[in-house]
Amino acid sequence: MSKILVIGAGGVGSVAVHKMAMNADIFSHISLASRTKSKCDAIAASVKERTGVDIDTFGLDADDVPATRTLLNQIKPSLVVNLALPYQDLNIMDACLAAGVHYMDTANYEPLDVAKFEYHWQWAYQDRYKEAGLTALLGSGFDPGVTSVFTTYLKKHYFDRIDTLDILDCNGGDHGQAFATNFNPEINIREVTAVARHWENGDWVETPAMSVKQSFDFEAVGPKNMYLMYHEEIESLKTHLPEIKRIRFWMTFGDAYIMHLNVLQAVGMTRIDPVLYEGKEIIPLQFLKAVLPEPASLGPTTKGKTNIGCIATGLGKDGKEKTLYIYNICDHEDAYAETGNQAVSYTTGVPAMIGAAMLLTGKWSGAGVWNIEQFDPDPFMDMLNAHGLPWQVKELDGPLGF
Ligand code: NDP
Repeated sequence: MSKILVIGAGGVGSVAVHKMAMNADIFSHISLASRTKSKCDAIAASVKERTGVDIDTFGLDADDVPATRTLLNQIKPSLVVNLALPYQDLNIMDACLAAGVHYMDTANYEPLDVAKFEYHWQWAYQDRYKEAGLTALLGSGFDPGVTSVFTTYLKKHYFDRIDTLDILDCNGGDHGQAFATNFNPEINIREVTAVARHWENGDWVETPAMSVKQSFDFEAVGPKNMYLMYHEEIESLKTHLPEIKRIRFWMTFGDAYIMHLNVLQAVGMTRIDPVLYEGKEIIPLQFLKAVLPEPASLGPTTKGKTNIGCIATGLGKDGKEKTLYIYNICDHEDAYAETGNQAVSYTTGVPAMIGAAMLLTGKWSGAGVWNIEQFDPDPFMDMLNAHGLPWQVKELDGPLGF
């Protein structure tokens, strides 16, 4: 029974708060704060209608550390779940330290002016969180999040050693729009246009963005083109599971998405440096975000499924080399019917609720800054099955052919 404050009233925040309200035995009191209070109020109304639970709402600019600290002192939550944008991570971690509150998020810190996805800024809080006796859990979404828990689950139950790991993220959903992103467009486009990096034999290997393409036949979706990308869990997994010789991340994109993105990039609309427009500085990517559909608005029209998982090859506990595939399939229309949000928000918001539940129930604990793969995967995996993201493990004939 604990009080919780969720910051960020986007698609992910909406799903997390709905799922928390459905688990009132763990989340005894829920508050939601975001930059635009009316968005919190709309989510609160939906939560009330669907679950009968009342949640408190607040307007908050989480980049204002004293304001966040004041709100924390007022609400006195046990835990802050940061579902705003990666830019807010450090400011919210500072406010949590100042108010003596545990912290959790789903995406690592990024500076506004350079698209860099690295954990070192947040890992630098290790000593301060330890000294304060507080826990910071980083990356409790799907990827990062579930994919890292999938990896430690495979390691715990099936492998003596994992040699290679491929994370495959497929969104087979169709939202009916010419071009839209399934989560925050600014973060999504910064991620997709970044140089691709994977981990191999103790070093980073870089390739130009979207230059390595493979086809894969995803269960419940069908064959899709997927592209090698950098993703933040590669950094934490290679740190915490150093035995893995190669870690790669793949994401599927349709040809229409790639075509639009190429044009937007070619004409400079994805730039994140300021441009002078009619005497005022604007960031082209932020302007683009303003004209694209809000991810939360895609819920009613999105049909199809997501299929996200990990393929690991290594030495099995039976002494034989084996390749295992662990994955979840999520249906966009089912996710929308349950929470009013499409599956990309759902597959992130549910693990955010579960990560918070792990901390509030004491199943995961410890002072310091932790990545999700550092904890016991079993109770988290049980909750995935029970709360809308069932998973399965399949043995493949052999390692991936690429
Ligand atoms: P949205 O853009 O839909 O929502 C973000 C919310 O944060 C908005 O309501 C926004 O307010 C609010 N916000 C932004 N800045 C501030 C601020 N300074 N103070 C208070 N609130 C603020 O994003 P999503 O819901 O799609 O994503 C939320 C987070 O989840 C992101 O960090 C994203 O990177 C992460 N994510 C993680 C995934 C994973 O698998 N690990 C997958 C998908 C997303 P306003 O509406 O007023 O702008």
